[in-house]
Amino acid sequence: MPDHQDIADRPTATAAVATETWTRPAPGEAQFLALLRADPARELENMARRAQQLTRQHFGRAITLYAPLYLANFCSGGCAYCGFAADRPHPRRRLEPAEVTAELAAMKAMGFEQVLLLTGERTPQADFDYLLANVRAAARVMHEVTVEAFPMTVAEYRQLAAAGCTGVTLYQETYDPVSYAQWHRWGPKRDYAARLEAPARALEAGIRTIGLGALLGLADPISEAVALYRHVCALQKHYWRSGVSVSFPRLRPEAGGFTPPAPVSDTQLAQIILAFRICLPDTPLVLSTRESPALRDGLAGLGITRMSVASRTTVGGYSQAAVHATGQFAVSDERDIATFCAMLRQQGLDPVFKNWDAAYRVAGEA
Ligand code: SF4
Repeated sequence: MPDHQDIADRPTATAAVATETWTRPAPGEAQFLALLRADPARELENMARRAQQLTRQHFGRAITLYAPLYLANFCSGGCAYCGFAADRPHPRRRLEPAEVTAELAAMKAMGFEQVLLLTGERTPQADFDYLLANVRAAARVMHEVTVEAFPMTVAEYRQLAAAGCTGVTLYQETYDPVSYAQWHRWGPKRDYAARLEAPARALEAGIRTIGLGALLGLADPISEAVALYRHVCALQKHYWRSGVSVSFPRLRPEAGGFTPPAPVSDTQLAQIILAFRICLPDTPLVLSTRESPALRDGLAGLGITRMSVASRTTVGGYSQAAVHATGQFAVSDERDIATFCAMLRQQGLDPVFKNWDAAYRVAGEA
């Protein structure tokens, strides 16, 4: 359990965000909770209609597309649910500069203008300097570069921003401290409070957008959704010039065979997403290829505004697909870009590959 008093005593904005996430109901929370608890047989359709209206109103017909690029599968962490955990026996490697160039070129050729760079927890093989060098490399090629890696200090986030990183994704995984302690078996990620404050540190450092999420399936989904909602609201209040987005990763099969202790059904996942859209109408909501084509097709534009497509969760997956086949998790939607975009257009939605220009990066960035 994090020491709430300890967090509360720290007089910084980042500590204030953590305190609010833990102790204070957020504006609109009563409505949010009522939507989460509504009977889906009676209310889901109404919620879907309302969510679609709000999505149209705030985002038009645009669905922004991106893809992850796994830089390395080294990890010092022991997350019980992850195929990259340090006790998994599969081969480890990282991409060297020429390989990163090849991956980025393969992704550009597929049409991507934004990339999400991923690594595990810090290791000597894939540390902060390695990540920083790869942000610089990606920023030379892509218009938008975001990162999903380990929690960093404000000074490190500042360096990432200066190198061209505009967004950081960092999921708390579970907001339930007991579940958190159970599934994060060793390593720096066991520090719940340090992770909870990291998104605020990134925004404090000038990173433009932060992506939050809970790994659905680890703990009671309603409690997780409420804690996530509070975290979003607290960040939006303290860092109102920055952007906050919300993802809905749901546990998928991985090499270690982890079984979700609190499985979330398709209906419940949809209800959570719709509740977020109704209560946070202008917050971008993200859905990855972890989910099935049918579910993704149904939720595109109904609340979801940003989606990954044609994702490879292996290291070197775009340019050397057959070489290292153990991914972080199983991809469920394996459609190629043309097929996916055709589906979006058929629904009257516009696939968007570029919604940020490298020229907007502040002076001093790469
Ligand atoms: S979730 Fe991240 S930190 Fe945990 S084992 Fe996987 S790669 Fe490592």
